[in-house]
Amino acid sequence: MEFSVLAEAFEKIEATTKRLEMMEYLVELFKKTPPDLIDKVIYLTQGKLYPDYLGMPELGVADKLAMRAISLASGKPLSEVEETYKELGDLGKAAERLLSKRTQLTFFSQPLTVERVYATLDKIARTTGPGSIDQKVKLLAGLLADASPSEAKYIIRIVTGRLRLGVADMTVLDALAEAFTGSRENRHILERAYNLCSDLGAVAKAVAKEGLEAVKGFKIELGRPIRCMLAERLPTAEEIIRKLGKASAEWKMDGLRMQIHKDGDKIIIFSRRLENLTEQFPDAVELARTHIKPKQAIVECEACAVDPDTGDLLPFQELMHRRRKYGIEKAAKEYPVALYMFDVLYVDGRDVTTEPYIERRKLLEQIIVQDEWVKVIPNIITDDPRELEKFFEEAVQLGCEGLMVKDLKAPYRAGAREFSWIKLKREYQAELTDTIDLVIIGGYHGRGRRAGKYGAFLLAAYDPENDVFKATTKVGTGFTDEDLDRFKELLDPLKIPHRHPRVVSLTDPDVWFVPKIVIEVVAAEITLSPTYPCGMNAIREGSGLALRFPKFTGRIRFDKAPEDATTEKELIEMYKKQLKKIS
Ligand code: ATP
Repeated sequence: MEFSVLAEAFEKIEATTKRLEMMEYLVELFKKTPPDLIDKVIYLTQGKLYPDYLGMPELGVADKLAMRAISLASGKPLSEVEETYKELGDLGKAAERLLSKRTQLTFFSQPLTVERVYATLDKIARTTGPGSIDQKVKLLAGLLADASPSEAKYIIRIVTGRLRLGVADMTVLDALAEAFTGSRENRHILERAYNLCSDLGAVAKAVAKEGLEAVKGFKIELGRPIRCMLAERLPTAEEIIRKLGKASAEWKMDGLRMQIHKDGDKIIIFSRRLENLTEQFPDAVELARTHIKPKQAIVECEACAVDPDTGDLLPFQELMHRRRKYGIEKAAKEYPVALYMFDVLYVDGRDVTTEPYIERRKLLEQIIVQDEWVKVIPNIITDDPRELEKFFEEAVQLGCEGLMVKDLKAPYRAGAREFSWIKLKREYQAELTDTIDLVIIGGYHGRGRRAGKYGAFLLAAYDPENDVFKATTKVGTGFTDEDLDRFKELLDPLKIPHRHPRVVSLTDPDVWFVPKIVIEVVAAEITLSPTYPCGMNAIREGSGLALRFPKFTGRIRFDKAPEDATTEKELIEMYKKQLKKIS
């Protein structure tokens, strides 16, 4: 197939402002394309060489390199290429102009084919190592030498990553339906196939070669990502229950969505946008290998940053340390992730996406080995908005973003955003800038490196009216090993076999202490929580106040008596003052 056919179609697509026209040009182009080439034509139209999920080397040729190739092919000095680029502001147009000034085409010049352009671009993408720049210049110049000015324009735009015709996936699917089935109505059949394989090229090839029946037969395949099911949003628990009736409310974790494909020992991890994350997350790969029981499976989870010493959830920002190309192993040790599983799509050759949520959840619970690093995301099943709210507050306080409420009967609908999944997030956030001084009233035994010491503490604020200490948070972050040795020394003499009579708490720590030691903490914010008595009913019936992401600052306030700690009233005021609407 001559490359000029593609270039002409690109010219037309670029010139139009109407989606319908764009689609018609695509239909025309697809009809002219031999079925064996249609995948490549589609990738090129979208400015790439492969579907994204393969994580193949990208073109991304630097401007400098492209300019050298244009100079070679056009016989013009590099300075003229630079000037023309500056004048036109578009390297593709610069190539077009300079090549149109060529006096003659090279002696051996022959029409460019799509096959040759694709193969050469592929070679350019894969060429690495010493001397690769010169080699890429040569390869690119070779193509340009045989290209017409218009063809050169598009080749340059493709290699520099600036094609941007704006041809969206759905437009391609519309055009494919029209071109090969005679009706755009069939788009939903193609779309279903696309949602299952995330590869427009594969769908196109199937429909062009074998027709609609072949597309209908598309199945989930291990190693090919499935497009993610997405959620709608409603503002209140009541509205969600009204919409869904009895439903499953799961924690909505604030992490990184992962779709994990397991095939024996082989693990592939895809992101929400279907990029390949496998190499970046060796720890998640290992967890998948050891915690997913079936030989073959596709599961979805949220990967969250956790404190390696306490297992506490950390804020989402901590995950950013994992977005890197180098030092991957080190980052995995310092900022390990825990996996919170929320769905299963495939098990040992069986596509389970069509089964209702409640069945998939049962299956998920059977196939996952749960421990401190891998969990099935906690949930409750309810039709009571009050209960939903309570669960919501608990989740937020523990570090979640809110809840994901799911229709018990709904299948997993790849690529769809509908009301079978509804997210409940907060409208307000109480930002906390001050430090808070709280009294240690209880302790939790440490584990791992912290074995034999206390790994976390239950803290309370003071209520002067009743002269009691009311529990308001559990803190396990911010302590050095030396801090923990020190706390053991300080607290062991204060151990008592039961809750101190001046302490109010709804939860039991491993060990109770006489309220005496005051420590300074910071936190992301103060949140509502049904599990802590401090501030109970002050803001909302049935809810107290708690700290979200609390952290020890390193200061023990020996200068403060427990009665000098931050009071319940102060916390309530802080909560009210710092409410901030989340956009
Ligand atoms: P979206 O991903 O829906 O386009 P968004 O980027 O605004 O929108 P969120 O509002 O954060 O995303 O909500 C969706 C994301 O929540 C999911 O993609 C997934 O990563 C995450 N998530 C966390 N917990 C769950 C859960 N229990 N079930 C499903 N998704 C969850």
